[in-house]
Amino acid sequence: MKPRVGVSACLLGQPVRYDGASRPHAWIRDVLRRHAELLPICPETEAGLGVPRPPVQLVRQGRDGVVMRGARDHGLDVTAQLHGWIEQQKDRLTGLDALIFKSRSPSCGLGSTPLYGPDGEELQDDHDGVFAAWVRSRFPRLLLYDDVMLEDIHQQEAFLSLLISIRHQYR
Ligand code: SF4
Repeated sequence: MKPRVGVSACLLGQPVRYDGASRPHAWIRDVLRRHAELLPICPETEAGLGVPRPPVQLVRQGRDGVVMRGARDHGLDVTAQLHGWIEQQKDRLTGLDALIFKSRSPSCGLGSTPLYGPDGEELQDDHDGVFAAWVRSRFPRLLLYDDVMLEDIHQQEAFLSLLISIRHQYR
């Protein structure tokens, strides 16, 4: 049986970004597909935010809190909607071997998402998106990557080797 890899759906060419665009990653879509079963996941559309939708960003709230707020409409708060969807994903992700996220996304970014202060100032650029943060905490064995970590042939081959070794280790 092939390894099972969840992938941010926009990386597979699905038009699910806020503006209806995608960010296809040719190696994931055309090469990795031959070695693994790919499962597209788009937190924002699956949570019901729609396409097109207002762009959102992560904003610090209080001392440790983070909310997903409209990047233009600061009165828009979709935090509860995203978390409501996330709480239903445990069974779906059980049995995956790896997950590849879209970098810098407020939902999917893996240590690459900007975090803003309440007045719009950028506080840091290495935060996790809300879905990626949840995956990281709930599935510590999962191999987690993003598109930036798969830009050249050496990174791609290393990922495939890790995927195969994980498959043999836990099955
Ligand atoms: S980055 Fe994540 S939430 Fe945004 S469009 Fe891609 S899959 Fe959907």
